[in-house]
Amino acid sequence: MNSSNLITIVVPTYGEGENVSHLYEALETNLVSVSTSYEFNYIFVNDGSIDDTCDVLRELAKLDKKVKVIDLSRNFGKEIALTAGVHEALSSKAIICLDADMQHPPNLIPDMIQKWESGAEIVIAIRKESEDQPIFRWLGSKVYYWIINKISEVEMTPQSTDFRLYDNKVIEAFKRATERQRMFRGIMDWLGFKREYVYFSAPKRMYGSAGYSYAKLFSLAVNSITSFSLWPLKIAGYLGLLLIVIVSGIFLYFLGFYLIYGVFIISPLAIVALLNTLLIGVVLVAIGLVALYVGSIHTEVINRPLYVVREKINF
Ligand code: UDP
Ligand code: MG
Repeated sequence: MNSSNLITIVVPTYGEGENVSHLYEALETNLVSVSTSYEFNYIFVNDGSIDDTCDVLRELAKLDKKVKVIDLSRNFGKEIALTAGVHEALSSKAIICLDADMQHPPNLIPDMIQKWESGAEIVIAIRKESEDQPIFRWLGSKVYYWIINKISEVEMTPQSTDFRLYDNKVIEAFKRATERQRMFRGIMDWLGFKREYVYFSAPKRMYGSAGYSYAKLFSLAVNSITSFSLWPLKIAGYLGLLLIVIVSGIFLYFLGFYLIYGVFIISPLAIVALLNTLLIGVVLVAIGLVALYVGSIHTEVINRPLYVVREKINF
């Protein structure tokens, strides 16, 4: 079989010593049905685990040459671990990313491959419900997707996961992203391309506990909001404008009253308060203006490709 039929499975692992061999077995069993048309490789990225993950992976790699291991020097976080795996997966026709804890059922893979064969360039697994998802996380994810879809120009699918198949075209485009503070699937969503979906209900994590604390999730959310939208920066400016309009309105009202009835019905103290508010408005507008400049620096610095090409014909 030639390497043009290669599909690489990328798995980030952090403290998954007990899970990886189960995952490996499950992958092997579930890929049998598609193994006549494709050759598979596994890339396990050990993201600085402190348990025996790396040893288990080494053993697997010894037994099966399809298993490749990237051992990162320390814990870089899942987004970077995924990125490393994807960067190292060379000459694959497609890449499939999934978690190591069996929360992304490998039996979906044949379906994903089929959707890809019929033209999808990204196949996204959507989580229907999670037996493992505490109410706070559920709520958090709802709020997060509501905000991000309101303020950014990129459409992100709620309940979508990192369990995805990417066509090689998508991967090539992804490799041009240079930002350091990254949300892996956020960048993938930004790239566009034709998407298809498969659905699953997430089972409980097999062994161990989720490595993503609320704090980590929150900072991931903030990261992705600031890297996909300048809206938070501009709020200050708009607020300032609003203040100026309101305060000017109040002043005009009293001025009109004075001109018509000849009485000044506003106390000196109230004037001071109003003037103060007006000045706060001016300051906020100034911050908003600075934000516009910071915003353009920000856009330059994250240095996304200007455009993404799906295909070039007759070049
Ligand atoms: N993971 C990683 N680095 C980290 C945290 C997690 O590579 O710093 C991996 C982890 O081993 C698993 C996947 O990312 O394969 C998802 O992690 P987890 O199950 O903890 O997150 P959740 O299921 O809550 O999204
Ligand atoms: Mg998990």
